[in-house]
Amino acid sequence: MAIIGIDLGTTNSLAAVWRNHRVELIPNAAGEYLTPSVVSVEDDGSILVGQAAKERLVSHPERSAAGFKRDMGTGRRFHLGEHVFSPEELSSFILRSLREDAERYLGEAVTEAVVSVPAYFAEGQRAATKRAATLAGLRVERLLNEPSAAAVAGERVRDDEQKLVLVFDFGGGTLDVSLVELFENVVSVTAVSGDVHLGGRDFDTAIARAFCQECGLDWTRLSPRQRGNLLHQAETCKVALSSREPVLMSVMDGEISASLILTSEWLLRKCGTLFRRMTAPVRKVFLDAGTPPSELDDLIMVGGSSRMPTVRSYIARFLKREPLKNYPPDTAIARGAGICAGMKAYDKELRDLILTDICPFTLGVDVINQSEPGRLLMSPIIERNSVLPTSRMGVYSTTRDNQDKVEIRIYQGENRYCADNTYLGKMELSVPPAPAGEQSVRIRFTYDVNGLFEAEAVNDVGERTRLLLRDGDMTEEEVRSRLRELEKLKLHPREQAANREVTARGERLYSVTVGQTRYQVGQILDWFQAQMTTQDPLRIANARRKATHFFDQVERYLQDADFPEGEGYGFDPEEEP
Ligand code: ADP
Ligand code: MG
Repeated sequence: MAIIGIDLGTTNSLAAVWRNHRVELIPNAAGEYLTPSVVSVEDDGSILVGQAAKERLVSHPERSAAGFKRDMGTGRRFHLGEHVFSPEELSSFILRSLREDAERYLGEAVTEAVVSVPAYFAEGQRAATKRAATLAGLRVERLLNEPSAAAVAGERVRDDEQKLVLVFDFGGGTLDVSLVELFENVVSVTAVSGDVHLGGRDFDTAIARAFCQECGLDWTRLSPRQRGNLLHQAETCKVALSSREPVLMSVMDGEISASLILTSEWLLRKCGTLFRRMTAPVRKVFLDAGTPPSELDDLIMVGGSSRMPTVRSYIARFLKREPLKNYPPDTAIARGAGICAGMKAYDKELRDLILTDICPFTLGVDVINQSEPGRLLMSPIIERNSVLPTSRMGVYSTTRDNQDKVEIRIYQGENRYCADNTYLGKMELSVPPAPAGEQSVRIRFTYDVNGLFEAEAVNDVGERTRLLLRDGDMTEEEVRSRLRELEKLKLHPREQAANREVTARGERLYSVTVGQTRYQVGQILDWFQAQMTTQDPLRIANARRKATHFFDQVERYLQDADFPEGEGYGFDPEEEP
């Protein structure tokens, strides 16, 4: 029985398998590798998937759905004709269709798969993806992060040297940027960033609107079908422009009849803002990782939108690096998933490849907000982008006199207020009565690559309580044995004099500066604080070096009397020293 690898994309999905010492892409019934992630219900109630469904998006928008990957793990429901589907049910139709294509291609039953998901997918989205697979008759033991999949798709992974790779994945709906470290046979995602509102679709919309404007049409007054048609045309022309120019865009639809000659120069002019937005997540991922871009070894560009020559040259220029050639943009992730499926099947050649992941979101507990008691604040314990498995501790004090217990509520998310984050669960622990602030509780979070999360709280007299949360279908025994392994990994928090010195220096500089400079000092302080909560010695050391460099600069500028005050001093926390 074969195990297949699946790239379940927002726009397109595809499957691959490891056979005869190499990875093979699996063609669908139409002989294509890419299956559009679109579902449509026909009048007789039968389900259409792929290119046919994509066509019906224009002709039968009320019976078709696309882009549902964005809604995985939410309560959103899609009404397709007389049917109502959840995002995971729609995804399961795509998976089922890929599975059937694979069974036909391989001539054997397929009951298991490795499915890739965006590195930033939170627990709920991952669990929903697993449910989708179950619904499609596929067992998924482990989900694979898309950037890891992209990174292992080339031949580079067997190198002995260490490599830092940036995976720039520009798809139809989102831009995902990740830093991946390859070290001997270990592949780990060390930071993720992205723009969830920037993808190929936005270029289609920008092209369609610019077309309307230049041809004297009013976009807002077009019917949904006319818009659908125009978007379809816009996408076709955009794809054509990636390999030749000029391209003629013409739309004949009801009373509309217009045409325009498009060139790359025109595209650049009309979509300039979209192109420029690509660099922000690239800057951010280096900042989050505390690594300068100069340490980057390779650039991998994947996702259909990375086929645009302007995108490639823009990013290549920005990073001063050419993208690697052997990564076909729209199949690399599926190839990587296929390679990992081979590993799962214990193919001898592949057995040694190890993948580790990062935690794509922050996990923390609620704490009292002195200034607004009604709005509990989130206190992070495991910070976003921590390498998994990880174990981190936070120390909290009682807030009331003679408090006899503490209630610890656990949240996931990046927002300052708990109410805006996702609630995961709670635990209670008794504390000996004492004046407020005199008793403390140490809370340790442990989180591993399989989505197993443990919270443990200990009070000053050694009493403890624990909460286990897990997704997927591990048995009690597996859980226990994983935990035993994880016990060994616990790191202890460190308070170092050097860190305090950096903070104190920043605070001083904050008090002696104004305007833009003060604002930047504040930002660097916040950033440094955030780095410290990771409790990752390497990252903290990096952050210290970087913050010190910025502060040196500030001091230099402060001494330079000729420099105009208040305009900012040309240093940017996102820029590398
Ligand atoms: P996803 O990861 O969202 O499933 P893909 O990686 O398959 O998406 O990318 C799909 C996007 O890539 C679409 O917006 C499509 O228009 C765009 N695309 C595909 N080929 C090209 C091309 N040659 N030039 C420009 N854009 C392209
Ligand atoms: Mg993709």
